[in-house]
Amino acid sequence: MALAFDQREGYIWLDGEFIDWQDAKIHILSHALHYGSAVFEGIRAYEGQIFKLQEHNERLANSAKLLDFTLPYDTQTINQACIDSLTRNNLSDAYIRPIAWRGPEAMGISAQATKVHLSIASWQWGDYFDHKAEGISMMTTKWRRPSTENAPVKSKASGLYMICTMAKHETERLGFDDALMLDYRGYVTEATGANIFFLIDGKLLTPIVDCVLDGITRRTAIALAEKRGIEVVETRIMPEDISKATEVFLTGTAAEITPVKQIDEIKFTPSTVCQQMMQDYDDLVRGKISL
Ligand code: PMP
Repeated sequence: MALAFDQREGYIWLDGEFIDWQDAKIHILSHALHYGSAVFEGIRAYEGQIFKLQEHNERLANSAKLLDFTLPYDTQTINQACIDSLTRNNLSDAYIRPIAWRGPEAMGISAQATKVHLSIASWQWGDYFDHKAEGISMMTTKWRRPSTENAPVKSKASGLYMICTMAKHETERLGFDDALMLDYRGYVTEATGANIFFLIDGKLLTPIVDCVLDGITRRTAIALAEKRGIEVVETRIMPEDISKATEVFLTGTAAEITPVKQIDEIKFTPSTVCQQMMQDYDDLVRGKISL
């Protein structure tokens, strides 16, 4: 069994300084633990270069703003701390996890008197999905993404992942790799930690990011596809449209480009477009091509 995350070795940046990995603890009365007041990012580095660092940490600041708090450091400082985290931990291909949360300075729903804390951990992490190259299986979950009136859906807020974890567990129990979430209206949205694209009649269709996370990899995939001359359409996708697709893939920092071979009873064969997108993405993050 893999070593538990709190048992690992290394250094974690916490509120401005590096401390020993195993000492990076927070108090049980932290506001974030009780009321979900935390936002985070997932970033990857390839061969020592952090991909889209600025974009990720700008989104972190924006996620915080949507939860009515301000980060205690500017983006440039957080960018530098991410870079330092790699050096300090002697990592070159790595996953970086900044998280900001309201602390234990006050207890209760009102969080005005709490302080905002920030930490950055990084570690080596391979493929998010086993058997990524051959494609993953997905199942439509009963859990739905809420509207912008019901939740801060554009924030990468920890609390929103409650839905994702329940959806993922439901589908894992039934033998699938991930869940496809619909929104409160019944439109197709995304997977539990990645955006989704469908190849239909030679065009790539992807849901509008109204109650979906505006993925940084999604934006990259759109640019890569357009560079290849593939038309990308951001649109509303209904569950009945899925059977028209010939190829399907997910995009995300952790998932990178992951082909999908099945959604519910519908099967797909990952072929030219999935392969091309995977290769182009890999070449881009490793600096072999540019956009
Ligand atoms: N949707 C959700 C729910 C996610 O958690 C993620 C991962 N951050 C994504 C989409 C993809 O976002 P990105 O490409 O910025 O990693």
